[in-house]
Amino acid sequence: MQSINPVVKNKRVVECPVCQEHEFTIEHLFTELQGRECRWSCNECSTRFSFLVKDDVFTMEKIAPDHMRSLVLLQSEVDPNLYVVTKGFTRLAKTGEKPPYKETAADNRYYYEEHTCPTNFLRGVERLIYKGDFDPHGIFKYVRHVDIDVAEEMTGYKIWDNDFLNFGFYIVFPELVKE
Ligand SMILES: [Zn+2]
Repeated sequence: MQSINPVVKNKRVVECPVCQEHEFTIEHLFTELQGRECRWSCNECSTRFSFLVKDDVFTMEKIAPDHMRSLVLLQSEVDPNLYVVTKGFTRLAKTGEKPPYKETAADNRYYYEEHTCPTNFLRGVERLIYKGDFDPHGIFKYVRHVDIDVAEEMTGYKIWDNDFLNFGFYIVFPELVKE
């Protein structure tokens, strides 16, 4: 066996002072972003902060949030018994206030029904509910699997390349092509 020295990497981080659940990496504020104000929201509680490193002094300040998280309920058009609850968000006004419900609902309707590929919002799925069952074992049937080396050989594409994502799936799983 070969012995390798692991590298210790230090980077400066700050914990969200509101929820203590999220760490912001601020190392790059000390280097390439020195003197530039950055605005980020906490991944966990959505509190928004302004961050600044000037003359190597770090300051952060709470500012009005630009969004708030939400839960979005979606119902399958294919089988109305199938629902998913996914992570969404509501854009807030500059003052930090919520826009009228109808506005966000219209944005969401467009986003989920027309704009985004379902693959995108399925990544954020919190629950999949079928006929009232929150734990619907058996709603998916295993069809088959193809190992990655075999998939690359079949298609001539590198796995996860755009060409693979756009065309490769249909070569690997020809049953996906509708007659
Ligand atoms: Zn937080």
